Amino acid sequence: MTHHSDYDVLAAAKNWRTMMPNFEVNTDIQQIFGADTFSLDQMREKLSKPIWKSLQATIERGVQLDPNVADIAALAMKEWALSKGATHYTHWFQPLTGTTAEKHESFVTPNAGGGAIAEFSGKDLIQGEPDASSFPSGGLRATFEARGYTAWDPTSPAFIVKHSNGSTLFIPTAFASWTGEALDFKTPLLRSMEALNKQASRALELFGVAVNKVVSTVGAEQEYFLVDEEFFFRRPDLVMSGRTLFGARPPRGQELEDHYFGSIPDRVLSFMTAVETELYRLGVPIKTRHNEVAPAQYELAPIFEHSNIAADHQQVVMQVLKNTARRFGLVCLLHEKPFAGVNGSGKHVNWSMSTDGGMNLLDPGETPHENMKFLFFCTAVIKAVDTYSDLLRMSVASAANDHRLGANEAPPAIISIFLGDQLADVFEQLEKGSLKKSKSGGLLGLGTNVLPRLPRHAGDRNRTSPFAFTGNKFEFRAVGSSQSVSFPITVLNTIVAQAVGEMTTALQARLKKKESFETALKNVLIDTIKRHKRVIFNGDGYEDKWQKEAAKRGLQNRRTSLEAIEQLMQKQNVQVFSSHAVLTERELEARQEIALDQYFKTINIEAETTEWIAQTIIVPAAHQYIGELSTSAENLHDLGIHSKAVMRSLQEVVNKADDLSEALEHLKTMNRELGGDTVHSKAYHMRDNVVPAMNKVRAAADELERIIPDKLWAMPTYREMLFVK
Ligand code: ADP
Ligand code: MG
Repeated sequence: MTHHSDYDVLAAAKNWRTMMPNFEVNTDIQQIFGADTFSLDQMREKLSKPIWKSLQATIERGVQLDPNVADIAALAMKEWALSKGATHYTHWFQPLTGTTAEKHESFVTPNAGGGAIAEFSGKDLIQGEPDASSFPSGGLRATFEARGYTAWDPTSPAFIVKHSNGSTLFIPTAFASWTGEALDFKTPLLRSMEALNKQASRALELFGVAVNKVVSTVGAEQEYFLVDEEFFFRRPDLVMSGRTLFGARPPRGQELEDHYFGSIPDRVLSFMTAVETELYRLGVPIKTRHNEVAPAQYELAPIFEHSNIAADHQQVVMQVLKNTARRFGLVCLLHEKPFAGVNGSGKHVNWSMSTDGGMNLLDPGETPHENMKFLFFCTAVIKAVDTYSDLLRMSVASAANDHRLGANEAPPAIISIFLGDQLADVFEQLEKGSLKKSKSGGLLGLGTNVLPRLPRHAGDRNRTSPFAFTGNKFEFRAVGSSQSVSFPITVLNTIVAQAVGEMTTALQARLKKKESFETALKNVLIDTIKRHKRVIFNGDGYEDKWQKEAAKRGLQNRRTSLEAIEQLMQKQNVQVFSSHAVLTERELEARQEIALDQYFKTINIEAETTEWIAQTIIVPAAHQYIGELSTSAENLHDLGIHSKAVMRSLQEVVNKADDLSEALEHLKTMNRELGGDTVHSKAYHMRDNVVPAMNKVRAAADELERIIPDKLWAMPTYREMLFVK
């Protein structure tokens, strides 16, 4: 057993200076930005005009890729990658585990003459066949047909990832079964973008706006913790499950709030600079960095991009954060709740829609015409979120995120929309049919007057809302820090496509009845708002009275992930996904099954780790202390001295050790049961029996941590992990 004396807290705080890595500090962003990506611009430069035109048609309009074009593009890509020192390439994809997967192939093939040649054909570029049997498919691939294939996504640039001993070309790909079913997160995301494009273009046509394409845009802010490696590796719970399964609260928590936007420690700043440099090279437009609410918590945000690229880049961000941290003797924790009693981490997904010309459809704009468009699309989002709140809730469901949602620190599990006073007022007046004045005094009106520019961030930046309008975009805040943003975006794209489609159809019907455009629009907006305004809530989402109020309004409150995951197969959900050709019923079923399985596995690992740590680290520490105290008691007794203090300490530790022992025996019993054979029953066993048993063990162990001598306590404490920087 390691004891506290085995490691040196002070060394942990100082060590990094001596191990400061040689990383490139290049502040010339212009020069390094995208240096390690094979961007479309580079591709255009390297390809002949007809070849580029053909590829461009594939990228922009989804035209089937010509194999000859693929061969030529592959050659250009290979030459570029070799010039960057890449020895291998990999089809990079996003299996349903929520992480990314890669299988590296060498560029170099030995030939018969005993030499070696660099080989990489169009076929290698556009299609790969990873040994997919180990990726979850939720039953989509029958066992005899365990293969799946990866397909190049030419809309997302390939990039070079360096490791300590070389580099690899990463090719973004989709992952599907041979029967064409999506086995990943990228495929439905691409399909949902197409659905949104179709419906939004239909709507814009009525507004007289001609577009080639409408895309959704995403900027995802990432929260994370940094802890010293020294501490991390002495915490089997962090190593095994990414979060602490034990740990008494530190004497000084975030109550002081001096960390938030406080100055960033030198070591962390150096780390951040290295991360940014790396991300710039990979073409990820990182913009802001700052401390977050909790001690040792930080955040980073990119500039928004086209959502497919933003989703790929978000995976890259997580990877770069993790890899770079290790070079500074740190470990980056992306878990939603690494420390109990301390603020958790989320990923705020900023989302909007834009035309190919760069017109933001959620920007109120400066002319009456722009205002009408804005109100139409904004209302569509409100309708979508109200109608499909269960899907949004499901898209952020995980065992890890359960620690945040519904607890009083992150957005509640009730999906509602924050609009801000000014915009809420506009909708109220609209509903009453009396749209005249805005709160700030500017004149309003459909067609005649202009909606004043809304403040990007009204003073009350409501942090308690899971879904907030922030001036020219919506911010979905319930997303977990470690999860892929792809599915939440897929859901948003799909449900907004549905709402925009329905409202467009309604508008068309009214226009047919010879209503003027303005009247027709106003009526559609009023109808829609009347039906969906219940989802708008500008108050404090942390307050208990909101729970009651929400119930009265008929809003769902799915506190745990399992409840949320169950809703996926509701008829209207299956309908919306299949009617927009985003996911079939079978594909959805597979996703539900995998989500349940992931839930089960996560808790199962945590529960077994809890048992193991309690049994092999904490119980022995308690026994050792009991031993020491009873020896003292005996010695004192022999000397004829009665020590109340020693007896009191002894009794206290004995009592607490008994509590722990009892809780531990119960956990062991629960861990031996698996809760039946179906993935459903297993998941419920975890939630209803195992989680409470784990919590009891933790509570008892944390009590012991408060009284057992520091020198006998083997694991680094919250105090050390959070405050040593
Ligand atoms: P904040 O003060 O909330 O951080 P920012 O304007 O800096 O406001 O935006 C936060 C995030 O939202 C950034 O990642 C930014 O790129 C993103 N964002 C801004 N506009 C849009 C948009 N139209 N679509 C998607 N994301 C956007
Ligand atoms: Mg934010």
